[in-house]
Amino acid sequence: MVPGMTARTPQPESSPLDRPVGSLFGVGPERAAQLGRLEIFTIADLLAYRPRRYEDRRRFRPIAELGMEQPAITRGKIVAMGVKWFANHTKSIFEIVVDDGTARLHCRWWNLPFMEKYFSRDQEVVVFGKLAGLRPRTVDHPETEVVEGGEESSIHLNRITPVYRLTEGLPQRWLRALIWRTLAAVEPHLEEPWPGLERHAAPDSRYGITAEMPLPSRARAIRLLHFPETEADGELARQRLALDEFIELQRQIQFRRRNFESKARALPCAGDNHLIKPFLAGLGFKLTAAQTRVLRDLRKDMSGAHPMRRLLQGDVGSGKTVVAACCALMALESGYNAAVMAPTEILAEQHFANFKRWLGPLGVAVELQTGSRKTGGGSPKSEIRSPKSEVRSPKCGGGGGGVEATPGSTPGASLTIGTHALLTAGFELANLGLVIIDEQHRFGVAQREQLVRKGHYPHLLVMTATPIPRTLGLTVYGELDVSTLDERPAGRGRLRTFVRKADKLPKVWEFIREQLGRGRQAYVVYPRVEDSGAGGVKAVTREFESVGRALAPYPAGLLHGRLKLKEKEEVMAGFRAGALAVLVATSLIEVGLDVPNATVMLIDNAEQFGLAQLHQLRGRVGRGAHDSYCILLAGAKSKDAQARLKVLEETSDGFRIAEADLEARGPGELLGQQQSGAAKFRFGELSRDWELVRQARELVSKA
Ligand code: ADP
Ligand code: MG
Repeated sequence: MVPGMTARTPQPESSPLDRPVGSLFGVGPERAAQLGRLEIFTIADLLAYRPRRYEDRRRFRPIAELGMEQPAITRGKIVAMGVKWFANHTKSIFEIVVDDGTARLHCRWWNLPFMEKYFSRDQEVVVFGKLAGLRPRTVDHPETEVVEGGEESSIHLNRITPVYRLTEGLPQRWLRALIWRTLAAVEPHLEEPWPGLERHAAPDSRYGITAEMPLPSRARAIRLLHFPETEADGELARQRLALDEFIELQRQIQFRRRNFESKARALPCAGDNHLIKPFLAGLGFKLTAAQTRVLRDLRKDMSGAHPMRRLLQGDVGSGKTVVAACCALMALESGYNAAVMAPTEILAEQHFANFKRWLGPLGVAVELQTGSRKTGGGSPKSEIRSPKSEVRSPKCGGGGGGVEATPGSTPGASLTIGTHALLTAGFELANLGLVIIDEQHRFGVAQREQLVRKGHYPHLLVMTATPIPRTLGLTVYGELDVSTLDERPAGRGRLRTFVRKADKLPKVWEFIREQLGRGRQAYVVYPRVEDSGAGGVKAVTREFESVGRALAPYPAGLLHGRLKLKEKEEVMAGFRAGALAVLVATSLIEVGLDVPNATVMLIDNAEQFGLAQLHQLRGRVGRGAHDSYCILLAGAKSKDAQARLKVLEETSDGFRIAEADLEARGPGELLGQQQSGAAKFRFGELSRDWELVRQARELVSKA
């Protein structure tokens, strides 16, 4: 945004914090533009600009004591400087020599000859860096700051000094001084957004914070953020400001929730068991205690005053599909339609086959609508009758091309399964009582809302096998109630995971052949569809033949996203029926596929995947009574990657894995593109601020 052109309507009493930075003394158009590049537009933005790190400039290390292990901070006087050119004047080294009386330090910059103009002899400089050599003492590309005289020395020196991320042309000292001056001027306007917080909020005592220090006031937190007085102050300030962010988010969440509840009346969808009873009786297994418990939650929601908004999380293989089917049956029993949205066509097809097999015999009409296939029209209408004498008329019909109830007759309720093709304008499901979204992490919040708007506040159940780390559960998913399937159905074999180096591949093939010899099936997964030539990452189309050779004579099929749906279906059908012993695939198979006879999965270039994704992938095996194996092959060079993958060897706890992933890769990975935007905080760090998120939630719900 251009300074001075804020979108807000100017109010006579508006806080000085909302003024553009351009209104500050000493900030002209050029500086304002530079600040804009750092997304600093208003004075509030400036004060919330978080230092990248701190330097303790109360104690400088004598140059003679600098070591090669740790970066350190020192200061001294420039005694010599100059640019050396070489390689036909195409390359250069700029060097300053700094002396502090104990020794000399050579600071060098490669190919930045213009640096010369920032320094002159006899200047005092602060240098932060790590020695690259001892004879002479040399440091390459250090961070430096020229010390100027006057009172400014109390801002930049003799304290724990903030170091900010900069942009071209913006000097560190200038920005620091600007923040210092601005803070002094507007400190009285820094209000407490949440009165009484200090009495309630306690900091998270990890991260170098000792004892039960109370969190500082907001004004003090902002001061300490920039100008900490002790080692712990920076983190203490961050926590307080993070808490403010989490509180603000919780207020929004709870506001939206109340608003929703005041507007939305629920459709009565609890059902009467006349379909669920025969369904469960014919299933061939007993529900786990967790499944039964979750169904109780769902029934309560479906008969409540407000439409259900619930997230069902359950590790891969915990049996979410059966729960979804029961939930759908509740709506169908009550005379309402239901829709299930799956993230891929393959998964939609699989659900379609499952639900037809399960619900068809009960007389429920099951339809499919994906980008490439659409049933309906000719399919037999449902036999079921609403238990109520009168069925509500469609509330959202008239969209053209959709299924519509014939007025005057009692329509059979139907279940439609689809992909995001369900979202396209043509789809209108009359009398929609329930929307189920499978594998939520693949869809954005916006898509979720779009589908729900197809109906008149239908109930909503979103299901995910990516365990939502606790912090995300209360933030990004804060508007949903959460149920958890924390138990695996009995009678499953053991699933063991091994991390192996790429050179062990021949042994791995041998092992897989042995499994195939016993009549089991295998998945072989590669990160890419086609060779991009980058970094030696293997592609499925290229490896397919060599896998076939390595595992001959067992027949292998190829599956990836660029195949036509019909081709995909044929391969899947062949694998399901056992005609194909091996499925060579991309991570396309990560969601939902259910082939219990498959007991081995080899994932090549496993380091290319996130931990949560690998956990999903390996969930494709270990679904039957036989013991199963997942082999993660790590690229030869990546020591770090191998260490990271070890987590999967050690635990099958999806929650632990998701938290490890969140720590290593940030929330974007877990949330997918569209949702990561919702998780942007300046101070809050979702990977470690669980305690603060919890506090914020509690404070807001008590208020
Ligand atoms: P996910 O939670 O990963 O979606 P699924 O719903 O695909 O898991 O279930 C995995 C497998 O377990 C399926 O073959 C399903 O029929 C089976 N299953 C589900 N619930 C039970 C149960 N209570 N007892 C035995 N098998 C079950
Ligand atoms: Mg599933």
